[in-house]
Amino acid sequence: MITLAVETSCDETALAIYSDKEGIIGEVLLSQAKVHEQFGGVVPELSAREHTKNLLPLLKVLLDRTGFDLKRVDFISFTLTPGLILSLVVGVSFAKALAYTLKKPLVPVHHLEGHIYSVFVERPIEEPFLALVVSGGHTDLYLVEGFGKYRFLGGTLDDAVGESYDKVARLMGLGYPGGPIIDRLARQGEPKYPLPRPMIDDPSLNMSFSGLKTAVRKIVEGGNYSKEDLSASFQRAVLDVLEAKLLKAVELTGVKRVAVVGGVSANSELRERFQKLTEKGIISAYIPHPRLSTDNAVMIAYAGIERFKRGITAPEDINPEPNIPLETFGRYWS
Ligand code: ATP
Ligand code: MG
Ligand code: FE
Repeated sequence: MITLAVETSCDETALAIYSDKEGIIGEVLLSQAKVHEQFGGVVPELSAREHTKNLLPLLKVLLDRTGFDLKRVDFISFTLTPGLILSLVVGVSFAKALAYTLKKPLVPVHHLEGHIYSVFVERPIEEPFLALVVSGGHTDLYLVEGFGKYRFLGGTLDDAVGESYDKVARLMGLGYPGGPIIDRLARQGEPKYPLPRPMIDDPSLNMSFSGLKTAVRKIVEGGNYSKEDLSASFQRAVLDVLEAKLLKAVELTGVKRVAVVGGVSANSELRERFQKLTEKGIISAYIPHPRLSTDNAVMIAYAGIERFKRGITAPEDINPEPNIPLETFGRYWS
């Protein structure tokens, strides 16, 4: 079974050809970071235009590189939700045109389901497991009972962690995306600044990161600060909260296997911390390769194959939505 997957939910234009037997046949990914850098964040209208411009040339590159005959594709997988609506519209339209031309079915995928199952591209996790989704738009904890069966346990009440990395980087004038830059600077600094750990003692699994960003802003506005030390302090505060909430989720559910996914799971200190907890036997962390942490089409292909195996295809008039909750999507489409 072979699928071609289309991912355009945010600022990466990505395509992948994936086989359930052979794994990745080929993939292409074009980041728009350079386009959005000067604005300090993604500009939705520019993102949609970049996807429109680049999808067809990227498909040609993918086919040239792999020598793959598009007729061998069994179905087209695509990200239906969540994401920037204009950007999703471009990818969904592209997927529909391909499916119509090739006379193949369309399979809708939830972007967060893609992130969660990105781990499975390398090795499966025994279900049930917990999923900590830490990305540009989401910071959520789920209990995954099986493919398509997601139970929301808690999440951020305001900023997502990736979003707060990007905002803090912008405050310090560091560029976009902020995550990898702060990750690098933090390694050269010490967590010297006392920053809050919002909601860390709250009994729920909810989180909040906007206060942390405000605390960083005050230090930046005070002038004469070390970017390295402030990066290290911010990152330490974020990871303290994530770890505390994750351990609370493990305690509440009795489930120790955890998929840590989404762009922020590429973070080096996060990986080290969850690795240490795994070595101590406190949790069993599964973190995708950094290439699979940030947006890509391989994860969409993987989830698409799982959906297709369950007989799920999209009607011709399917339309993207900016934000269908993962729980709802799982129930509706499984
Ligand atoms: P969502 O998946 O919620 O729809 P998104 O697709 O925009 O949002 P991803 O591509 O999964 O998000 O992740 C992008 C985010 O990951 C950005 O906010 C970026 O700063 C962050 N990020 C990437 N690498 C790192 C890193 N090494 N450390 C911390 N954050 C990182
Ligand atoms: Mg991105
Ligand atoms: Fe994402």
